[in-house]
Amino acid sequence: MGSSPNALYQYAGFVLDRINTVFTRIRHNRSAILSLATSCLIIASAHGYAAGVNSNVPVSADSHGAPLSVSLQSIIPSDTSSLTEQSAWHEKSRDLTPQPRPDFIEAWGGEIVDIALPTNRPALSAILPESAASLTEMVRRETNQELLSEVTVTMAKGDTLAKLLARGGAPAQARSAISKALAVQMDLRRLQIGTKFTLGFDSDEAVTALQVHVPRLKRSGLSGRDGAYLDLFALKSEELGGWISLKALRPLSSQLVQSGNIIDYSLYRSASQVKIPPTTLDEFVRVMGFSVDFQRQIRPNDQFELIYEKTVDALTGTELSSGELIYAGIILSGNKIEFFRHVSATGKTSWYDRNGNSAVRTLMRTPVNGARLSSGFGVRRHPVTGFSAMHRGIDFAVPKGTPILAAGSGVVESSGWNGNYGKYIRIRHNSTYKTAYAHMSRIASRAVVGRYVEQGDVIGFVGSTGRSTGPHLHYEIMVNNRQLNPLTVQLPTAEGLPDSERDDFLASIALLESQISDTPFRSHSKKAVEQAALDK
Ligand SMILES: [Zn+2]
Repeated sequence: MGSSPNALYQYAGFVLDRINTVFTRIRHNRSAILSLATSCLIIASAHGYAAGVNSNVPVSADSHGAPLSVSLQSIIPSDTSSLTEQSAWHEKSRDLTPQPRPDFIEAWGGEIVDIALPTNRPALSAILPESAASLTEMVRRETNQELLSEVTVTMAKGDTLAKLLARGGAPAQARSAISKALAVQMDLRRLQIGTKFTLGFDSDEAVTALQVHVPRLKRSGLSGRDGAYLDLFALKSEELGGWISLKALRPLSSQLVQSGNIIDYSLYRSASQVKIPPTTLDEFVRVMGFSVDFQRQIRPNDQFELIYEKTVDALTGTELSSGELIYAGIILSGNKIEFFRHVSATGKTSWYDRNGNSAVRTLMRTPVNGARLSSGFGVRRHPVTGFSAMHRGIDFAVPKGTPILAAGSGVVESSGWNGNYGKYIRIRHNSTYKTAYAHMSRIASRAVVGRYVEQGDVIGFVGSTGRSTGPHLHYEIMVNNRQLNPLTVQLPTAEGLPDSERDDFLASIALLESQISDTPFRSHSKKAVEQAALDK
């Protein structure tokens, strides 16, 4: 571009043309607003050019679909009717150059900066073909051949691809051809144990196809709903002169399940009634176990709600995950406790309450799997002993052999027979806190004096050793060497939600809550709970 006025006018003409196109498009679709932004930028740069300012703004005009930066967005009038009015300005101005600048340009007070217009990264689904429900179907689609049988083998420890293929029935020649074809698509040294391989055989019993079921590709967000699987194929095609490899996307479909119940005899029984998968309930109990004593704190009409995610292979309908917990809530005597799963930017999963406080405490209130504990009020046969001057701990009535978990991480300080306590373990967590466990039937081998145990490690099994009337766990929390009531002692929580993750976390909660129904549990008030109980 020269610096003569003519060149400038020519350039302005180009810009106006561009605006005209954009205004026409606005009537059709919203993405045109993006182009308008680019045009504004160009006009602004033209203005800078006319005033003798050296601007670095790129004059490349094509940015359809590119995300807008905030500063660009701020110059776009939010009301499209005003854009239509301005297009009237444009119709008149078309043959009247030079022109005063349009209003919306004047409204832009921002400085011209070096903006690299982002290019669109295409979605995987746009690059990769969709996988097929079975290898037979894939072979039919891609090479127009028929398979007679399929054999699936699983990568075991110490396996190489060659060993695995041999086990599946592939002869040496095919094994090396397959390896060569697959190596184009993936690093064969990184095959994970447990990866499944399906070999396909034709009517001559020759191997002509292979499918690698690559484990989960990615997860993100609160529920990880963007997940997808990759399939890798090696197919023998005479037309293409041998083995070729191909990547294909296996889409997942996810379903949120919202489920809850009133707790009667035990959480376990109430959860079974509404068909909550056992592993989902275990996770619920693990998350809640830091805050709740499932034996003593459950009262008539208490209730729980959980939200979990079922992932299904969209091509075959096979259930891939039985139910990953993403929300855990419980109402105890009218008080609601709730936690949300959060996956951090680095992929770490944590549980927080609405305010970002961690669900995890330095010590658990219930150091056994609480799901199978029967709530105190429903129990007649086992007296459940509380905390008193005579009894300086809490008893959990659980069957003999139930695993006992380390309530917190720490060093085993005492392990072995201890008089009336029977088989006994004491863990020192820090200079303030210790926990003790008594009447065990057996002490786990890792729980030796001086050894460090992690929170949740199994340290022994419930029994009735020492002075005990029946199988139960006697549990003590010691603060500065004094036994305090585990039910009421204040326990420090683990580190809360980092500030940098707060916006993501709150957005995830809002998204989740927009997708689920408003149950009496969710719109909880004391009255609602009582009414729900009456209705039942
Ligand atoms: Zn006791």
